[in-house]
Amino acid sequence: MAISARGSTRTRRMRNRPAQGSGLDRRCMGVTCGWYEEAMTSDARPALPAPTDEVVDLCRDLLRIDTTNTGDNATSTGERLAAEYVAEKLAEVGVDSVLHESAPGRANVIARIPGTDPSRGALLVHGHLDVVPADPAEWSVHPFSGELRDGYLWGRGAIDMKDFDAMVLAVVRHWQRTGVRPPRDIVLAYTADEEAGSDYGAHFLTSRHRELFDGCTEAIGEVGGFSYSVDESRRLYLIETAEKGIDWLRLHAKGRPGHGSMVHDDNAVTALAEAVARIGRHRFPVVVTDTVRAFLEEVSELLGIELDPEDPETAIAKLGPIANIIGATIRNTANPTRLAAGYKENVIPGRASATIDCRSLPGQSELLERQLRELIGPDIAIEYIQRQPALETTFDGALVEAMSAALRAEDPGAHPVPYMLSGGTDAKAFSQLGIRCFGFAPLRLPADLNFSALFHGIDERVPVDGLQFGVRVLDRFLRTC
Ligand SMILES: [Zn+2]
Repeated sequence: MAISARGSTRTRRMRNRPAQGSGLDRRCMGVTCGWYEEAMTSDARPALPAPTDEVVDLCRDLLRIDTTNTGDNATSTGERLAAEYVAEKLAEVGVDSVLHESAPGRANVIARIPGTDPSRGALLVHGHLDVVPADPAEWSVHPFSGELRDGYLWGRGAIDMKDFDAMVLAVVRHWQRTGVRPPRDIVLAYTADEEAGSDYGAHFLTSRHRELFDGCTEAIGEVGGFSYSVDESRRLYLIETAEKGIDWLRLHAKGRPGHGSMVHDDNAVTALAEAVARIGRHRFPVVVTDTVRAFLEEVSELLGIELDPEDPETAIAKLGPIANIIGATIRNTANPTRLAAGYKENVIPGRASATIDCRSLPGQSELLERQLRELIGPDIAIEYIQRQPALETTFDGALVEAMSAALRAEDPGAHPVPYMLSGGTDAKAFSQLGIRCFGFAPLRLPADLNFSALFHGIDERVPVDGLQFGVRVLDRFLRTC
């Protein structure tokens, strides 16, 4: 589906500035001049902050900027502040970035870190800055306080995904200060509007400023790289290699309007309700894709679960908190989410509509449409309000090896596995440019944390040691990618 990018483009280049407090000459701030070596031999050696310390401050600062995405431009304004914060933090260590505003207050930040081998394709590293709403009355701490408590940083966006935004910033700042250059160009993209479909974020950038991603062949972003404990010594790390498609649609039923007191056999509400109930109760057939098969084979071996290829659901049911995510990736799904009809108790309306949130497996969007048509019959119209294809790539190659090696180096009990995300991310937009997208935002989690429940959930929080683990893994990975 063509995504319309609305609003005007306003860009602002964030100028290179010397690192604050470093006392180093601006001329030496490039990544190639080796000022770190000079600095290390000088008597007046500056104390460099460790990226594993800095990530906590960066994440907390970002959590304290309320970037709630309400889906309405009039009230979603915090992204601009967060974008300026990121640009400032990059500028402090000499990284030029450009701010792209898709609508007033809706800003994206892009920067390119030159690699040592410009002939290689660039790696895109993307993270969104917006968050879903949070009601302070439901939380143990204020959702925008960035409170540090019990070894966790608390706040809306702590795992989705200001944690990763901060990790990337911490690594890049460390590299700039110490003269590290990545093997290939790295394009950083901090985006707006991921939580409401990315029209003002990733889709805006890829449709209006495609050139920003010139040469990008692969990408990492959410949702993947997090751990799932098998036992004390072994952890799965789920790397996202596939995403289901988004097929949001509206059903429209028509009938004969009339008086609510009379006999009536052509009621739009009745027809719609029957169709909605059929869809809501329907279970689409199980289809095990390559990604899910690879995941289930690895996991069932590690967990000692018997895997019956004819009945993957029995094995999935034994996966505990991640069963919800994996269970949604073996079939197309369709969940009714909204209903609209009528305006008065005693008036039978001529129209009724319902919204259905459908998610399709790779290559199954058209099949799903036919399946729905069969379920609802010929008389109800289907209107697509959002249609974005599923993604799937293979779990192999040098980039996957680099991810796996970085995880194993920091956690000898790491077992990286591919998996399919049941939701959608900014990867939907970037993959349209032919970029091979992975979900890899490394995070080691305590065994008892119900990670998937924290996404858009109450008391969202990230373990500080997990955040620091992520920085170490990312640093290793990005040096070898
Ligand atoms: Zn997210």
